[in-house]
Amino acid sequence: MTDVKQYKADIRIFGEKINEIGSHLSVTKNTMREINADGLTILPGGIDPHVHLSLPDYVPEQYRWADNYESGSKAALAGGITTLGCIAVPEKDETPLGTLKRETDAAQQQTIADIMIHPVLHSPTDETLQEYPKLVEKGCTSIKIFMVAEDFEKFSLEYLRALFAAKKAGLITLIHCEDYSIITAVCHSLIREGRESLKNYADSRPVISEVVATQRAIAMCEVTDAPIYIVHLSSERALEVCERAQEHSLPVYVEGRPIFLYLTREMYLEPEGALYVVQPPLREENDIEALWRGIQKGTIHTIATDHAPHTREQKLAPSLNIANLVPGINELQVMLPMLHSRGVLEDKISLKRFVALTSTNSAKLFGLYPRKGTIQVDSDADLVIWDNKEEREITKADIFSKAAFSIYEGERITGWPKITIRRGEIVYENGKITALPGSGQVIPRGNPQLLN
Ligand SMILES: [Zn+2]
Repeated sequence: MTDVKQYKADIRIFGEKINEIGSHLSVTKNTMREINADGLTILPGGIDPHVHLSLPDYVPEQYRWADNYESGSKAALAGGITTLGCIAVPEKDETPLGTLKRETDAAQQQTIADIMIHPVLHSPTDETLQEYPKLVEKGCTSIKIFMVAEDFEKFSLEYLRALFAAKKAGLITLIHCEDYSIITAVCHSLIREGRESLKNYADSRPVISEVVATQRAIAMCEVTDAPIYIVHLSSERALEVCERAQEHSLPVYVEGRPIFLYLTREMYLEPEGALYVVQPPLREENDIEALWRGIQKGTIHTIATDHAPHTREQKLAPSLNIANLVPGINELQVMLPMLHSRGVLEDKISLKRFVALTSTNSAKLFGLYPRKGTIQVDSDADLVIWDNKEEREITKADIFSKAAFSIYEGERITGWPKITIRRGEIVYENGKITALPGSGQVIPRGNPQLLN
């Protein structure tokens, strides 16, 4: 199964690569193992281009992620995802090259899944931007910026220059589109009214703060012609802004996020509503419908978890309010099963579109295609043997993430990975991780391959 065709064939793996695809391939004396996948579907390994598995040392305990590269890898592989795009936040005064080096070393020690690293740009200077060609030389062709941070307001001219530099060097820029000033002012006003409880979380980050930041990101794209990748888009109005830009052939790519496809802001009124605090917040029914339409039309190009794992205790700490957040949720392990059940089996998307959204498009945009993101000779043997009939309930006991819970516990799902193979090695089988930390690699990448 690929993003363009479905057919019946045997696949031979040699070393880390797909060596041969054909009918009735014979077992040879060198065959180490034959897997009978009759009645099952073989998907290219999933690629989740947006996860958080590490933080700099200065971040206090209560805000730290529950997962590292090892436990995050386990959750990913058990869910059919073989490559992760990790957001790498700089230590104080560190430039992107320093961040890339430090995170590559850390990931190389711990990871089982393959990794791409997106360094976060912070307080950019001309000197920082001169590093861009060196990042590309080192196989890093993406960078992340946070419009939602105060830093963006202070350095907006330099961030715009960063897009010129990205265009010139051949990088794609991931952008978190929310407006710092609007959110800060609205939070202050809610707090003055005594409405600081997380029940008001959705009101504290209104849709317009996403719309205006998305418009501004697109303006930066239009001025520089640099490709931008808008992470975790949440609202109908912001999607319309992106769609208009795409109609004008601007290189604007959009990431959808699972939680925004299934849940609305009503969740914040639940007794444990704080569990659902993510940035931007959950929206309304019309937004869910618009996001699914975008997925169907292809104006949303990828689905990524923004896996940002915290424990229940961290998420439910009584001291939290709209101005003191522990945002983020763990989704890695169930992203593919949920999207298969709710998307493919409910006839919202085809299985081909499922593959494009969860593997092929990310491989292209982040410079990994055709090494990853498809099933063809000479590609990495990243394969998921998927049982699209297996029915299961999501339970806490099956969760590999050290967040140790899932907001989808109790959901009945159809379609699970049986075996996950990463570069020719069986890394997940029968509910167990079968490969060692450090067996994953940080994969050098080429320039983004733009989608049309
Ligand atoms: Zn994120």
